[in-house]
Amino acid sequence: MHVEARSGREPLPVEKLSAAMWVVRGAGRTLTLTITVYALDQSVRGAWLDRQRGYFNGPCLFLLPEGRDAESIEVTLEPPPHSLAADWRVATALTRETVDESGFGAYTAADYDELLDHPVEIGDFESVEFIACGVPHHLVVAGRFESDLERVASDLAQICTAQIEFFGRPAPFDRYWFLCLAVGEGYGGLEHRASTSLMFNRDELPKPGEQGQPRDYQRFLALASHEYFHTWHVKRSKPAAFVPYRLDQRNYTRLLWVFEGITSYYQDLLLLRSGVLSVAALLQRFGELLTRVYRTPGRFKQSLAESSFDAWDVLYRPEPNHPNTSISYYTKGALVALALDLKLRLETAGRTSLDDVMRALWQRYGARGVGVPEDGFEQLAAELSGLDLAQFFDAAIRGTDDLPLAELLGKFGVAHELRASTGSDDSGGTPRAGNGEVLALGAGYRARDGGLELTTVLEGGSAQRAGLNPGDLLVALDRLRVNERNLRRRLARFESGERVTATAFRGDELLEVGLVLKAAPLDTCYLVQQEQIDAETAKRRDAWLKQVTAP
Ligand SMILES: [Zn+2]
Repeated sequence: MHVEARSGREPLPVEKLSAAMWVVRGAGRTLTLTITVYALDQSVRGAWLDRQRGYFNGPCLFLLPEGRDAESIEVTLEPPPHSLAADWRVATALTRETVDESGFGAYTAADYDELLDHPVEIGDFESVEFIACGVPHHLVVAGRFESDLERVASDLAQICTAQIEFFGRPAPFDRYWFLCLAVGEGYGGLEHRASTSLMFNRDELPKPGEQGQPRDYQRFLALASHEYFHTWHVKRSKPAAFVPYRLDQRNYTRLLWVFEGITSYYQDLLLLRSGVLSVAALLQRFGELLTRVYRTPGRFKQSLAESSFDAWDVLYRPEPNHPNTSISYYTKGALVALALDLKLRLETAGRTSLDDVMRALWQRYGARGVGVPEDGFEQLAAELSGLDLAQFFDAAIRGTDDLPLAELLGKFGVAHELRASTGSDDSGGTPRAGNGEVLALGAGYRARDGGLELTTVLEGGSAQRAGLNPGDLLVALDRLRVNERNLRRRLARFESGERVTATAFRGDELLEVGLVLKAAPLDTCYLVQQEQIDAETAKRRDAWLKQVTAP
């Protein structure tokens, strides 16, 4: 960011004090700062400007005069020269003051925090409006894509309605904007108080006229559902440690599993409730979630509370060894939400569920603008259910053992099945026909230069025992070439326990190591609805997986 200052016509020197602080001395009645930002970050957190579109997330652009964060702010968005962008329009949930028919003009924010919380999309995008529980919603999609946005809007309307009704009418916002960017590669979402920015693969949008819910489209709907849920649960209910949120330092909490994990559970469950996802599709998504956790040996080393606390240093700075040392508070957090929901339903004979805890959390904290203390969620769950949950939370949040999900799901007529992975394209969630024992490298990999680049080397697996590292390029097994296509076939020629020569490049040096092949672990999960179940179990399952008829 380049900063220039003047007072009237007088240029003034700008002194930089730290990464994000500048001081200007000698200003008269007015101080004008001109900042120049190089906008080439396409992510939902960034700022972007080219001949096709512009986008910004407030913190990338707006400086704050120190100590004046409570004052109201006016922002004027000027259109680029007409010859460059005649069709450009503005999409944002910022409050409009005086704008033209394209949305250029003056906007206001009650304070700095509100200004930062309203990303802005500018360009020649497609948009559709819809109403959910009386609240106008806008679906805006930038980037190249081919889809039926009316159909997408109608699915989103069902999801939004289900969520507003979940927390209780009226919605805590009077307008909502989905600011979407369809890309070839990239994925992400960021929640805001009256909008969300979503980036996803353009092929996730349904083809015009396509029926049903293809898997890719489910992924898009789940992302939208996730960020929308945050409008209550993160943007309004939030850890007390985030009130006020300090932009200039790390804000530590052990509660991120409550906010991201529980949201990840409901993003899918509410797709079912809203009627856009079938029970089978939901169970497949839960099976994939379980698989992601079971393929992470780090879950035995790091607890959820620690994962949350370390978020600043780990989750968004991935390193190849993370799967061995850490666990995501999104995925394992979602499993804790699942386990807790089932446990509450089971042990209170259906009187209390996680739904009740979430609504009470909203009413007690979010709706009143009160931060959730570090023990607030656990206390509330115990209070509402009347159960002693201390042991459950100690094990699930502060311990590292696997959760008793097979047993809990069994009480709801759902079988928890495990099998070996069949390859790098196998994300679990479904049964797959196997032909006998599967051997595995004990490593994640991707195709590169005709071989396999190891992306992660899992603790205790064959590759690690042979001394292979992430980054090594495996080119041969038993002195025959291996690649992504033939790996499974090559591995099938050996027996478990057999020692083979593995040839790999580390940098530009060729290595040969002895690799003792082991049976692939049963780390791939899928869930099946049981057919022979008693009436009590059926009743429990129906109550948990009920679909509310769409409006
Ligand atoms: Zn989230």
